[in-house]
Amino acid sequence: MSCIFCNILKSNDKSKWIYETDKCCCFPDIDPKAPVHLLVIPKLHIESLSDVSSENADFISDIFSSIPKIVSKVGLKSYRLVSNNGEDAGQSVMHVHFHILGGRSLGWPPG
Ligand code: AMP
Repeated sequence: MSCIFCNILKSNDKSKWIYETDKCCCFPDIDPKAPVHLLVIPKLHIESLSDVSSENADFISDIFSSIPKIVSKVGLKSYRLVSNNGEDAGQSVMHVHFHILGGRSLGWPPG
């Protein structure tokens, strides 16, 4: 099955990537919902957070240890981390990802 994010990972074009480890990478969302809108994705196809297990949790753990470095790199002090899981929650790309949103005041609760 074709996956947009796996295709991004397979491509050699890292020109937009702002951060990378051996297990994750971060690049801007193509349709930003805030002045800063980044996506952090594992370099392993995991469909949703419901598919995280002890077998692949190191990819998710790496994302969480990368986030402080990413937000520091882009100068965000306040930000929101969002992961939509499942269609009703708004997940449109079935490859786990975390949105980092910031650069403006963010309302709560989200819709
Ligand atoms: P979600 O709707 O939570 O699954 O988030 C998927 C996100 O991926 C959306 O915010 C899209 O704008 C974003 N997106 C889709 N294709 C690309 C792409 N090629 N590059 C960057 N972001 C993308």
